Amino acid sequence: DTFDAMGLQENLLRGIYAYGFEKPSAIQQRGIVPFCKGLDVIQQAQSGTGKTATFCSGILQQLDYSLVQCQALVLAPTRELVQQIEKVMRALGDYLGVKVHACVGGTSVREGQQILSSGVQVVVGTPGRVFDMLRRQSLRPDHIKMFVLDEVDEMFSRGFKDQIYDIFQLLPPKIQVSVFSATMPPEALEITRKFMNKPVRILV
Ligand code: AMP
Repeated sequence: DTFDAMGLQENLLRGIYAYGFEKPSAIQQRGIVPFCKGLDVIQQAQSGTGKTATFCSGILQQLDYSLVQCQALVLAPTRELVQQIEKVMRALGDYLGVKVHACVGGTSVREGQQILSSGVQVVVGTPGRVFDMLRRQSLRPDHIKMFVLDEVDEMFSRGFKDQIYDIFQLLPPKIQVSVFSATMPPEALEITRKFMNKPVRILV
């Protein structure tokens, strides 16, 4: 029950400790290792449990840092949550030199396109703007191998279902999919049935 025992790379561990985390929370203890093995994971957890660092660590551990292309896409329901995730991703990935971009509405499309074309490895965004950037081919999906849906129940209650399905259609077929949700409404279960491969379920 330590971060040291999880087999994480040295520079990720440095980021985790520098951020002030000493011991993994329950969800981190159960979720980080399966995520790092490339398994599809469904984690039913409230916010406040440490879910953000769970998927950020899983992503940061698996990125190919020699490739400056988007390899991980994280969707979240609100701009505020996206910015919070971006902050944690940057902090934990500080010693890895990860390139992260937040893709949300209410910001300049042109500027977003410039940042995306300059090369990013992780994109965190709200479904509307992410779909827009994929449709414009400003966000290239070819190298995406990890897809995280955070607060899926909240994304559905905000009406993002169609956009989430549209995004799935544009991503490569065999990617790792992880779903985080406080509750599991029928639409969330449908996503897991349609798009996930033998998911591991973790209830915290
Ligand atoms: P989250 O559920 O991801 O929104 O995280 C809730 C809060 O717990 C955030 O303020 C995190 O910084 C904090 N947190 C997450 N994991 C740990 C940990 N292992 N040790 C101490 N604090 C943590």
